[in-house]
Amino acid sequence: MKRVLITGAAGFLGSHLCDRFIEEGFEVIGMDNLITGDLKNIEHLFSNSKFEFYHHDVTKFVHVPGKIDYILHFASPASPIDYLKIPIQTLKVGAMGTHNLLGLARVKNARILIASTSEVYGDPLVHPQTEEYYGNVSAIGPRGVYDEAKRFMESITMAYHRYHGLETRIVRIFNTYGPRMRLNDGRAIPAFIGQALRGEDLTVFGDGSQTRSFCYVDDQIEGIFRLLMSDYVYPVNIGNPKEITINQLAEEILELTGSNLKIARKPLPKDDPTQRKPDITKANEILDWFPVVSRKEGFNKTLEYFKSLSEEELFKKEHKDFKEYQRV
Ligand code: UDP
Repeated sequence: MKRVLITGAAGFLGSHLCDRFIEEGFEVIGMDNLITGDLKNIEHLFSNSKFEFYHHDVTKFVHVPGKIDYILHFASPASPIDYLKIPIQTLKVGAMGTHNLLGLARVKNARILIASTSEVYGDPLVHPQTEEYYGNVSAIGPRGVYDEAKRFMESITMAYHRYHGLETRIVRIFNTYGPRMRLNDGRAIPAFIGQALRGEDLTVFGDGSQTRSFCYVDDQIEGIFRLLMSDYVYPVNIGNPKEITINQLAEEILELTGSNLKIARKPLPKDDPTQRKPDITKANEILDWFPVVSRKEGFNKTLEYFKSLSEEELFKKEHKDFKEYQRV
C-alpha cells in the first residue's frame, strides 16, 4: 500500500487532498500545526484506520516513522489577512518548512510535490500568465512574504531535483474556492458569501475592475493528483482560465444568494494584482487536464457549505481582523 504525507492537512486544499488520497486507497498521514487549519475539516477521517494525524509545525525538524512514497507540501497561510498577521510564519513555512520536507523526501526516497502559486507572477505584465513568465513581484510589499517564500520554495525544490536527483513536482495554484474555505479569511468569495448571508453590503476593493479566474476545488485537486503522478518536473499552472472582474463576481454572488444588498467600495489593498488568468496549455497537453466545473455549479456548492454553518459560527467568526481588513 502506498503511503503519502500531506502537510497543511487541516486546511482547505490539504483536507480535500486527504479525502482524495484516502479514496484512491492510499495510507494518509496528515500534518498541520493548526495556525490557520481547522481540525473540523478532517474530523471525518479520524475513524479511518488508513489515516493518521500529526500535530506538528514543519518549520521544525520533521520525523515520520516508516516508509513514505509521496509528500505533498500544502502547509502555508494563504490569505491576505494571514500575510499581514503572521508574516514571519508565512516566510518560514515556505522556506524552512520546504527545506525540511525536501530533506525528508531524500531520506525516504519519496516523490515530493510542492504547492506554489500564481502569486509568483505578482502583478503580472503578461496576460494570461504562462509558466515561462518570470513575474512582477515586490519583495518588500505586504504580499511579498508569501510571494517570495513561494519563489524560494520553487527555487530550492529545483535545486534538490538538479543536485540530488530528487523526484519533484511544482504546481502553481490559481485562485481556488469551495467548501472548507475559512469564512473570514478575507478572500473575495467567502467574504462576499458571508456578507450576503449576514445581510451586509459587499465590500468591493478599488473600482472592482481587477480580474481573477476562479477554479472549483474538485478541478484543482484533480489537476494536482495528475501532476503528482506525471513525470514532469517544471512548474505547471492549475486554475480555471475563465476570467471575471471583481464587480462581476460581486454581482454573481448577489444573484446567487437572491439578495438585494449594495456594494460598499473600499480602498484597494497595496500590491493587489490588477489581472490574473492562467494559461493552462501545459496542464492540458501534459496532464490532459482542464477544469470542468462551471462557476454556477461551484458557487452553488460553496454556498450550500457556508449555509450549513450554524448561525453562531456565521456571526462569531466575523472577527476583528476580518472587519479591519474589509474596513467596515
Ligand atoms: N476583494 C474585494 N473585496 C473583499 C475581498 C477581496 O474586492 O472583501 C478583491 C481583492 O482586492 C482582489 C480580489 O478580490 O482584487 C481577489 O482577492 P482574494 O483575496 O480572494 O485573492 P487574491 O488577491 O489573493 O487573488
